[in-house]
Amino acid sequence: MLAVCLAFPVRSAAKRFSKEKRRIVSIVVKKGDTLWRLAKHHHCSIVRIKRLNRMRTATIYEGQQLRVPARKPRALVRAFDPIKGQSIGGPRSGHLRHAVRLPRDPAYYLRRPYRAWGASHTVFYIRQAIAAVRRKFPKIHKLAIGDLSARRGGRLSNHRSHQSGRDVDLGLYFKKKPEHYPQSFVKAHPSTIHFPANWRLLRALISTSNKPGGVQRIYMDYNVQRMFYSWARKRGVSPRVLSHMFQYPHGRYSQHGIIHHWPHHEEHIHVRFKCPVGDDSCYL
Ligand SMILES: [Zn+2]
Repeated sequence: MLAVCLAFPVRSAAKRFSKEKRRIVSIVVKKGDTLWRLAKHHHCSIVRIKRLNRMRTATIYEGQQLRVPARKPRALVRAFDPIKGQSIGGPRSGHLRHAVRLPRDPAYYLRRPYRAWGASHTVFYIRQAIAAVRRKFPKIHKLAIGDLSARRGGRLSNHRSHQSGRDVDLGLYFKKKPEHYPQSFVKAHPSTIHFPANWRLLRALISTSNKPGGVQRIYMDYNVQRMFYSWARKRGVSPRVLSHMFQYPHGRYSQHGIIHHWPHHEEHIHVRFKCPVGDDSCYL
């Protein structure tokens, strides 16, 4: 499933990289390698490898040394380009086309897999943020994931938005996994919550806010914002960073920050992603 989900963006990013100047590295051909496979792995064309190695034919053999463009996995991630035309209309009156399903993954629990459909960039950024948490806290419990959208979007019971594949409800991380979690969301409490893991999740999500299709808004109860705000403040996070992140302490109706108050968001956060750049069928 993942291969299907990411095939699109990775391919378009690869195309972009083939025009760029990249470092050339030397590799040794392994058993079963073909030029086609190497070209795919190194995000370049077969012709490029042939040229780099002054080859007349496409034959390669085990143990042969070849010059190839270096892979750029991190840059590829940065170059992720949201696909236009998936998210139609707005989150409160829209639908989805060619939806991508958030695949199953040991890192999280899908509470309703039939409502785990989204635009490709929504799915991509959710996975990327959770992966960032797992890298730092490999033993952390699964994250509960509530609804994204239905396969074709449109109205979804219990939600006003979640219609166009750009919304997701994410649970929280706890020091000790609560009994009914991740099947149900559990309310945030300063004594039970795993602050550093949730902080990593928030930071990873918010770091996409200046990327195409990245986070537009995160909804979180005002009192929970206060919890995170004071925790971070005590750990020396600068007021400038905090004011970029939180509406707190400016009041629950102020327009400060990316994280805004919404009632009933004490046990989960609601993350909304932007429209792909230049996608006229997608509305804020
Ligand atoms: Zn929601």
